[in-house]
Amino acid sequence: MFKALLIEKDDAGYRTRLQELDDARLPEGNVTVRVSHSTLNYKDGLAITGKGPVVRSFPMVPGVDLVGVVEASDHPDWRAGDAVILNGWGVGERHWGGLAQRARLDGDWLVPLPAGLTPRQAMAIGTAGYTAMLCVMALEHHGVKPADGEVLVTGAAGGVGSVAVALLARLGYRVVAASGRPAEAPYLKGLGAVDVVDRALFSAPGKPLGKERWAGAVDVVGGHTLANVCASMRYRGVVAACGLAGGMEFPATVAPFILRGVTLAGIDSVMCPRAERITAWQRLARELDPALIETMSREIALAEAIPCAEALMRGEVRGRVIVDVNR
Ligand code: NDP
Repeated sequence: MFKALLIEKDDAGYRTRLQELDDARLPEGNVTVRVSHSTLNYKDGLAITGKGPVVRSFPMVPGVDLVGVVEASDHPDWRAGDAVILNGWGVGERHWGGLAQRARLDGDWLVPLPAGLTPRQAMAIGTAGYTAMLCVMALEHHGVKPADGEVLVTGAAGGVGSVAVALLARLGYRVVAASGRPAEAPYLKGLGAVDVVDRALFSAPGKPLGKERWAGAVDVVGGHTLANVCASMRYRGVVAACGLAGGMEFPATVAPFILRGVTLAGIDSVMCPRAERITAWQRLARELDPALIETMSREIALAEAIPCAEALMRGEVRGRVIVDVNR
């Protein structure tokens, strides 16, 4: 038997509860993992609360992330005792996920826990942090250098935003954090932001082109925010777009792209190829200050993930939430 959050949807409605499940109910897969920690990401918040159509089949164990130790494996890459991380691949959406004490998965989805990270730290990073690293890698790939000018991070006090601020500052960029929570300015400066601006500056419908300010940007918000960020990029600036916390639409014009050579780089963590994931995780282990990982995260028990998902959806959670699935 193992403990898990289980989402059910039937005539009685949509509900998520902590349950004790029989191992026989675990899905198909060639690797069984004893999970130590999971996390809460925006997508998990949508799944647990039912506020977004994330879950594709019911009943579902949510949790797009997990870290743990291989218990049994029929996959050539993994043996009992290996420490592994899983992020994405539809886990927690189509395949039972990480908010459980046990998971059965496809070994092709797993990456090794990098040397230098504890399981707890890995989940303090989670999909949010790994996506932040993919955004940083996209800015670098398209040639944005610290000397090129300021870099903007939107949704900065959230999970992706917090890790993006810390990583970019560590790499020497001048990071400006956009947040709707002025009280979090000291936190964001502690992560390395040189300035914190009100997210309201970006949230209303704007002009096709604005004053050129940002050499690079990481956007988790979408909607008018993403359109306004594109409009205020410097010549040949690069925007890494990974989120929709403010909306799915993209009410922009082509002006920034055809008149200023702006690049819009789309970031997807779910199906990202394995080699890139391994690079991202190795870099996270090397480049993210462990003291800042501690600053930006807090730990909860498995049952607390349900109320915490509601708080996440209300935009009240700062940074990252680690879930200890065994308490
Ligand atoms: P969080 O909830 O931790 O952070 C989101 C932040 O966005 C909030 O803290 C808030 O920051 C800001 N925000 C929320 N609502 C609004 C709004 N209406 N307008 C403007 N800003 C808003 O979520 P995550 O960091 O985990 O995820 C952020 C986004 O990135 C989500 O949309 C998520 O789905 C997406 N994502 C995408 C991935 C991918 O593979 N492409 C992977 C991981 C996440 P503040 O309070 O500072 O203003």
